Amino acid sequence: MAKRLNGQALAARYETSLRTSVAQHLTTAGCPPGLAVVRVGDDPASGVYVGRKAQACGRVGIRSRIIHHPATASQQEVLESICRLNADPACDGILVQLPMPAPLNARQLLLAVDPAKDVDGLHPLNLGRLVRGEPGLRPCTPAGVMALLAHGGIALEGIRALVIGRSILVGQPMGIMLQQANVTVTVAHSRTRNLADHCRQAELLVAAAGQPGLVGAHWVRPEAVVVDVGIHRVPPPRQGTRATLRGDVCFAEVEPRASHITPVPGGVGPMTVAMLLWNTVQAWQQRCGVVGGITPVPLPR
Ligand code: NAP
Repeated sequence: MAKRLNGQALAARYETSLRTSVAQHLTTAGCPPGLAVVRVGDDPASGVYVGRKAQACGRVGIRSRIIHHPATASQQEVLESICRLNADPACDGILVQLPMPAPLNARQLLLAVDPAKDVDGLHPLNLGRLVRGEPGLRPCTPAGVMALLAHGGIALEGIRALVIGRSILVGQPMGIMLQQANVTVTVAHSRTRNLADHCRQAELLVAAAGQPGLVGAHWVRPEAVVVDVGIHRVPPPRQGTRATLRGDVCFAEVEPRASHITPVPGGVGPMTVAMLLWNTVQAWQQRCGVVGGITPVPLPR
């Protein structure tokens, strides 16, 4: 039976470390770290995510605020909000909550964020730094996966990995981060032929296709490490019951076959939020000239 890589527990340890670092450097910095979330429209899932991020900020001492525009807001209005936040000294991090309602151009909005405040790590400058292996703000979800693997004691050097998905948000940066950890990486996508065969060769399988239950047990190499990035809301089966979440992996059938697996919920999701907090504290320290960085979360011996 696979060992579960518990993102909920690890995220709590990251929060403790961040809370300590914020408290330690508050006097030198002169003000707490600030995160602003730019939200447009009333997508219910976005509402839940934004609420969770705000709560997590509160737990570590980051001052958060939500700039909420109606779905009818123009591109110019949202751009002006971002520009105001770029110039605001109380704001260290700006998160543009995706998806943006049509006809807004999300790519142009992300480009408008000051790279020093780009806590999502999606600005071309930060993605370029990632490709070059230079320090910078890293995309939160793949950074969270790397932390889960490190704290799960997974030896990455020289292993063969398959990442399913090539989005800028997850798949592409995931592939780059794994390569930088000396993993031999294949990135699959919707046009990949014989996906199951690629999966069966992988010692590490990262599923980020956004396809519920795509990966079944027969696709998984025995003793593989399986990371499930997908999040899908399953509507309640009948009135009075609750909606549940599931991933891209058929958890119940893959768990007995894998060596390690991330659950959904409680795997990658909480670590994505933890990395957003990490980036915000890092951006704050950089802006305020704090030396010493963030207290690291000790790795297992
Ligand atoms: P996305 O932008 O829709 O990208 C999906 C990628 O998967 C694309 O590259 C697509 O290929 C590929 N793909 C789709 N169907 C496939 C199939 N049947 N076989 C192989 N490849 C396939 O999605 P995303 O933003 O990367 O997110 C992926 C999933 O992760 C979603 O479920 C999302 O909700 C979840 N997510 C979770 C977190 C978290 O914190 N846990 C954070 C971000 C995203 P093409 O490029 O060829 O279209």
